[in-house]
Amino acid sequence: MTDSFAPFLFDQDDPARRGEAHGEQWRAEIRELAEIRAALALKKGSFRDRAQLDAVARLHLPLLDNFSAPLSAELRGIARGADVAPEAVVVLNHYTDLRDVPPSVLEGPCPEDPVVSDSFHALNTNGDGDDPGGCTAVYLPGQDAPVLGQTWDMHGTAEPFVRAIRIKPRSGDDEVVCFTLTGCLGMTGVSARGLAVTINNLTSTDGQVGVVWPALVRAMLACGSAREARDLLLRTRLSSGHHYMIADGREFYGVETSGKLKVVTQTGARAAHLHTNHCFDPVLRRHEAVPKASTSFRRMELATTLYVQQRPQDARALWTMLSSHDGWPRSVCSHIDDAGGDPSASKTCGRMIVDLTRGEVLVGRGCGQLEPPTVVKLDRWRGGHVP
Ligand SMILES: [Zn+2]
Repeated sequence: MTDSFAPFLFDQDDPARRGEAHGEQWRAEIRELAEIRAALALKKGSFRDRAQLDAVARLHLPLLDNFSAPLSAELRGIARGADVAPEAVVVLNHYTDLRDVPPSVLEGPCPEDPVVSDSFHALNTNGDGDDPGGCTAVYLPGQDAPVLGQTWDMHGTAEPFVRAIRIKPRSGDDEVVCFTLTGCLGMTGVSARGLAVTINNLTSTDGQVGVVWPALVRAMLACGSAREARDLLLRTRLSSGHHYMIADGREFYGVETSGKLKVVTQTGARAAHLHTNHCFDPVLRRHEAVPKASTSFRRMELATTLYVQQRPQDARALWTMLSSHDGWPRSVCSHIDDAGGDPSASKTCGRMIVDLTRGEVLVGRGCGQLEPPTVVKLDRWRGGHVP
């Protein structure tokens, strides 16, 4: 049966109430996913046991309170609605970063000054050689409309929990559409002002206690322009590495980060940009540990070749490109879990592509070739700038 991927609407004005509604809506799913991600963090991170993982997760709550009271209220609301501890929602949201945070942060005098050792961490990360998952992100200037989109590749066991959400408070004129997981504030999305953000995970060796990254994504989406979102990113304390693509039709920025460093590596809305899960910047490369099993370099090659062959000019063409099975199972639409029989191996769990002129989003769960994208319009769209 075709599973429509229409976004679930949260129209509450109050962030705490919005979070509670989210938590109540998907209580069973949130509880299950929090357990799956805690087990994976214990397997792939350096934590002694669940109590230590929870303690490290808890260190992130005061930082979130200081970063954004509304987003902290929403996350804590999700926990109340789902009847779990707030740190369980931190684990669910921040899992890919938590894997890179050494437990030694618990020994520091305070989370503002964590003790981090690169050598300690390098010995303890991804020792089982799994592909930690990734994503393939693409920005196109397009013929008449810039387009920003990505696959979302992660542990295949996350696929049933993938959702689209529309946050559209009854008061005011805000609206964001996000691709996310049950219990997560949002992983990639677009605002009614025409600002979109995508994410690639990077595996850093200088992990620290930082702002829960989906909260940062939502805060960036609340900015008035790509430049403002870039500046917010550059001044925010992070936990671990990501590559952020930020576009508003007028401007484009690609920013690579590790836990402690940030570098703008791509600019220019008139050029196409691609990124997977390894750093381009030579300094940042010294603070990353791409796992041997990662498909990042291979997907970068495949995506570059597909881009040259197909020259996609619009959102649908990018959907086709990001659904490619060339090189299956280690393809851009990744199916490693099918090939290896390990359900927690990496796979493409969905994709989201934004037409930055029309305020139209193509979004879907799972393999891009199995069902057509769900088309979502932002109701309060007032973007549509042409670079
Ligand atoms: Zn596929």
